[in-house]
Amino acid sequence: MRVDSGQLYIDGAFREAADGRRAEVVNPATGDAMGSMAQGGAVDARAAVDAATRAFAAWAATPAPERAAVLRKAADLILQRRDAIAALMTREQGKPLRESAGEVTMTADYFQWNAEEARRIYGDIIPASTRAKRLLVLRQPVGVTAAITPWNFPASMIGRKLAPALAAGCTAVLKPAPATPLVACAILQCLHDAGLPAGVANLVAGPAEPIGEVFLTDARVRKISFTGSTAVGKMLLGRAAEQMKKVSLELGGHAPFLVFPDADLDQAVEGVVSSRYRNAGQTCICANRLYVHEDIAATFSQRLAARVQSLRVGRGDDPSVDVGPLIGAAAVERVRAQVEDGLARGGRLLCGGEPLPGPGYFFQPTVIADLPPDALLRNQETFGPLLGLWSFRDEAEAIALANDTPYGLAAYLYTRDLGRAVRVSEALEYGIVGVNDPVPATVQAPFGGVKESGMGREGGYEGLLGFLETKFVSLAVPS
Ligand code: NAP
Repeated sequence: MRVDSGQLYIDGAFREAADGRRAEVVNPATGDAMGSMAQGGAVDARAAVDAATRAFAAWAATPAPERAAVLRKAADLILQRRDAIAALMTREQGKPLRESAGEVTMTADYFQWNAEEARRIYGDIIPASTRAKRLLVLRQPVGVTAAITPWNFPASMIGRKLAPALAAGCTAVLKPAPATPLVACAILQCLHDAGLPAGVANLVAGPAEPIGEVFLTDARVRKISFTGSTAVGKMLLGRAAEQMKKVSLELGGHAPFLVFPDADLDQAVEGVVSSRYRNAGQTCICANRLYVHEDIAATFSQRLAARVQSLRVGRGDDPSVDVGPLIGAAAVERVRAQVEDGLARGGRLLCGGEPLPGPGYFFQPTVIADLPPDALLRNQETFGPLLGLWSFRDEAEAIALANDTPYGLAAYLYTRDLGRAVRVSEALEYGIVGVNDPVPATVQAPFGGVKESGMGREGGYEGLLGFLETKFVSLAVPS
């Protein structure tokens, strides 16, 4: 398989779509086509579900150490091919090469960690109330699963879904985002080369609706695991109810970042920069709202603005670049609209504020202070290199401001006061809290949101549990 010419992967073979359609894949740093991808539809999705259904019984019955061996081999291959996959990711998605390499490593980690965990899917024996019974609890794979992934983490989101699904003994059909199908092909190629049996993992790229419709209406698909926007997540949840499918939803966020006066301010500035401007701000857990204690707000905002202005924007394949392009023209437009709205409502521009001339889809790293509560930036997920800054008076106000959103994915606080770290972490209505830590996501910990940021957890043992059903067996034992 050529990396710039992706094919669907169904029943253990790379192939063109049933109707032969293909679409260009665009490099967001140049706006030019960098490759093309086969475009599957309902026929291909159905063929993939057929293959996943045929493969399920044998894969579920495969001893866990054998399943684990395939996943470990896949992890090794992903690492061996890290540089090539990272270069492809940078061309396809835009993020700086070192971020791409880090993401590929994390993808391998998902396969490695779940391979280890596959051997520890234990059941329970419950003490019965009578001598004449034994009560057993079995954990069994849920069946055929569908995975729908976004473009912002085109490899690690696949690792986070496919690795636990396959470790649990499920089979899977993946629909990657249309902007980043080629990285998905590269990961599936590693699974193929690792000896994954035909049909256990399948890839159907193409328009969302016909493929999603097969996932939603084919009763053989027992679970849908989705990472993407809250709007699409709500639609999937409603429709999945028709067949009572299991659903896990990793949705949008609007993360608050609280800086208390006792924080190490240098660390806090670096933390904000890492959280907000990594991946050009296109990270579901990145800081969207920065709240700084009023005593340090003036100093902090000056230091932050200077640091943000020093970030180098450009093509991700230039090693000196900190911030790459946005995924496309619509993303630039969304950031520009939030900036214009904020300035029109009296916001104070601390730095940036403009798109950069093409080719490619670039926006200056931007900070705006003192926006009113109804500003777009205060309420809508930005998904770009733009941050809002406000001040707060005390801990209670900081918590209230942080929780004042329908989202609940990730929140951050910087403080050196241990008591405050505990109190505030406990009070934040979020699925993930980073205390003096701007990058809390890791393969062995549960990742996910509360409120409109989703349901279910991925990563860690809880991620694996999401692909397992609990079965109770009551065994009468004649005396
Ligand atoms: P999106 O528009 O919701 O798309 C995500 C995926 O869903 C894409 O593959 C998309 O395909 C597909 N999709 C859209 N409509 C569908 C339908 N009717 N049936 C089946 N699939 C459908 O989100 P995005 O803009 O690509 O990604 C950014 C969003 O993801 C942000 O909100 C971000 O916060 C969130 N995100 C969350 C996490 C997390 O773990 N919580 C992680 C990363 C990103 P098409 O593009 O073809 O429509």
